Amino acid sequence: AAAAAVVIHRRMKKPGTWVKVMEIVKDFEEKCATPVSRLRQVSDAMIVEMHAGLASEGGSKLKMLVSYVDSLPTGREKGLFYALDLGGTNFRVLRMQFGGRGRGIVNQQFVEVAIPPSLMTGTSAELFDFIVAELAKFVAQEGPDFEPTPGRQRELGFTFSFPVMQTSIASGTLLKWTKGFSINDAVGQDVVAELTKAMERHGLDMRVSALVNDTVGTLAGGRFVNDDVVAAVILGTGSNAAYVERANAIPKWHGPLPRSGEMVINMEWGNFKSAHLPLSEYDLELDAESLNPGDQIYEKVMSGMYLGEIVRRVLCWLAQEAAFFGDTVPPKLKVPFILGTPAVSAMHQDTSHDLKVVAIRFKEIFEISNTSLKMRIIIVQICNIVATRGARLSAAGILSILRKMGRDTIKEGEKHQRTVIGMDGGLYEHYTEYRKSLESCLNELLGEEVSGTVALELASDGSGIGAAILAASHSQYLGRDD
Ligand code: BGC
Ligand code: MG
Repeated sequence: AAAAAVVIHRRMKKPGTWVKVMEIVKDFEEKCATPVSRLRQVSDAMIVEMHAGLASEGGSKLKMLVSYVDSLPTGREKGLFYALDLGGTNFRVLRMQFGGRGRGIVNQQFVEVAIPPSLMTGTSAELFDFIVAELAKFVAQEGPDFEPTPGRQRELGFTFSFPVMQTSIASGTLLKWTKGFSINDAVGQDVVAELTKAMERHGLDMRVSALVNDTVGTLAGGRFVNDDVVAAVILGTGSNAAYVERANAIPKWHGPLPRSGEMVINMEWGNFKSAHLPLSEYDLELDAESLNPGDQIYEKVMSGMYLGEIVRRVLCWLAQEAAFFGDTVPPKLKVPFILGTPAVSAMHQDTSHDLKVVAIRFKEIFEISNTSLKMRIIIVQICNIVATRGARLSAAGILSILRKMGRDTIKEGEKHQRTVIGMDGGLYEHYTEYRKSLESCLNELLGEEVSGTVALELASDGSGIGAAILAASHSQYLGRDD
């Protein structure tokens, strides 16, 4: 009887664990579900918030920030202009020579510098001193291929990828940090003034002519080459969108009515939040333990900074509650943000028959070398759940913009209207499954006829180029051909 009991015990333990694993995964999958009906509710809620954000300052979690960009590039921009693009993980400095009407970009150079993580949570002066030191080095290397106009001060477009309340095209105060940044003394400050002070400290004689969000820069860079570009979406470390709004549909705008009748709006959609968003307990915990609890909820379920961390949290729970990796939780699995989204992408897209990539990554990242094929299949499934939810929710965001612009239907007399959305960010650019899932979901939401008139186009590094173009069109001199 004793021997039989042992056998029964063994038989029950193993399948019991797997039942628990499947239960946890199934529950997670259900909480992340994004059927079309749910996505339409998300989009309806977003449109309500868009109206509220445009109606009054602070009227919504969606800030719908006025960019002061009321005329987009025409292609006639001319001269030498610089740009500084401060994003999520690195920054770029660019130098662009524009040739004027019909000539476009005649020359360009850039350098990219990683931001030391310690500077992301230090002081404003430390961050700007570091950036300006690199900028000054770069400006000093301006070669004969570039033609500054004699007697003119050099001008710079500043792409600053955080929420800013603009006070003019070239000034604005930082509302809060997002992504991995948290520099308290910069909040509420004019970021152009901070940059300018750092330039003065370094003896760099340059004027900031345009301050833009990366979405606004991407929109401008896209329009420079394609007249059909009317919106831009960033899916990178963080996420956000900008689009061209009718000025008279912005009740909170009390400035002069622009000649174009239009104004680019920086939505700051990352901060969108709605009871319709499919959230799991892993998302709630990630938020609670983040640098900015309660903020950027939409961003936290769909952007590059967080996808890997969500997957890690699910795996951790499986380890703890269902002994997924054996009797103990592997220590590395407990390290926040140790699993990056690029690794999720690589594992998700592993096409080898025995999921070799998953095995290798688990060894490298978590020092876990005992994964069975059965386990690796589950791991891929979790990556798929997280990426699919993110991609489909971003499609719902794009749908909202198209609906707000009246471009989700084909109107009589507008049969040939085309809508192009400039896309940028590492997530969109490098995570193929994510991109495919976004695109097929958007087609599903729009229907065949309309989706034939809408195109998402990758505008790699459009945000820096766009800032240089906007520096030209807002130059203190004449930055264009007439
Ligand atoms: C920021 C936005 C930015 C986006 C993409 C978000 O976290 O709030 O301003 O456009 O990331 O870089
Ligand atoms: Mg960027």
